[in-house]
Amino acid sequence: VIAIRDLHKSYGALEVLKGIDISARKGEVVSLIGSSGSGKSTLLRCANLLEDSQQGEILFKGEPVRWRGEGHHRHPADLKQVIRIRTNLSMVFQQFNLWAHMTILQNVMEAPVTVMGRDRAEVEERARHYLGKVGIGDKCDVYPAQLSGGQQQRAAIARALCMEPEAILFDEPTSALDPELEQEVVRVIRALADEGRTMIIVTHDMKMARDVSTHVVFLHRGLIEEEGDPDTLFGNPKSERLRGFLSSTM
Ligand code: ATP
Ligand code: MG
Repeated sequence: VIAIRDLHKSYGALEVLKGIDISARKGEVVSLIGSSGSGKSTLLRCANLLEDSQQGEILFKGEPVRWRGEGHHRHPADLKQVIRIRTNLSMVFQQFNLWAHMTILQNVMEAPVTVMGRDRAEVEERARHYLGKVGIGDKCDVYPAQLSGGQQQRAAIARALCMEPEAILFDEPTSALDPELEQEVVRVIRALADEGRTMIIVTHDMKMARDVSTHVVFLHRGLIEEEGDPDTLFGNPKSERLRGFLSSTM
């Protein structure tokens, strides 16, 4: 679904990504782990074109992203392509980013109706379906402030699902939550993995990464230090840095 080749990204003089290759095929669940500042969020943001990059290729379903300019002046060239990619790689953030003045149902319906121009009645039916699926079907008409953190994050996941995206990108979906609420969200993510959804998940939750991933990537200072299937990577890490990282997080 998405393939990234030799991606470089700098903020001014700070080179955050130094040549990353990563891909997620249909049905794959790729987890991105690594210490704070290693470039995990930046990589996700580049993948769905929330950020420009200076060098490298991004392919969405085999279609290369077209760029204009070079180096620090490089930008995606085609707005329609940007929208197509953003709506197909929908993102779930650490802070759920729900609109406070809209009900949960309105939050979930907003983008499909206004950005994608889908039929309102059809979207409403789908929104109710996905809210039920994440276990908050009874919360359609309340406002985000009336929900717990775990329920808000599940609403944010329903909102991503309602776009019917090719893949979902999660940026630390459980790190703002108390441990008990964290488990509600982990269960939803595990269910999505079981039904074969394509996902890229940035997480500090090694247990979830080991449980749900088909592939795990360990980033260190903007480079891939080690990657592999979860059992090998967690069970038999080769790199000293990965071993250190794992022993500090588990
Ligand atoms: P964390 O685990 O703390 O979320 P991360 O791996 O997601 O870390 P990033 O957020 O990708 O790390 O940041 C990587 C580096 O890029 C950091 O050094 C950060 O300070 C820098 N950075 C991120 N966003 C910007 C920005 N908009 N402008 C300048 N520097 C930035
Ligand atoms: Mg981050």
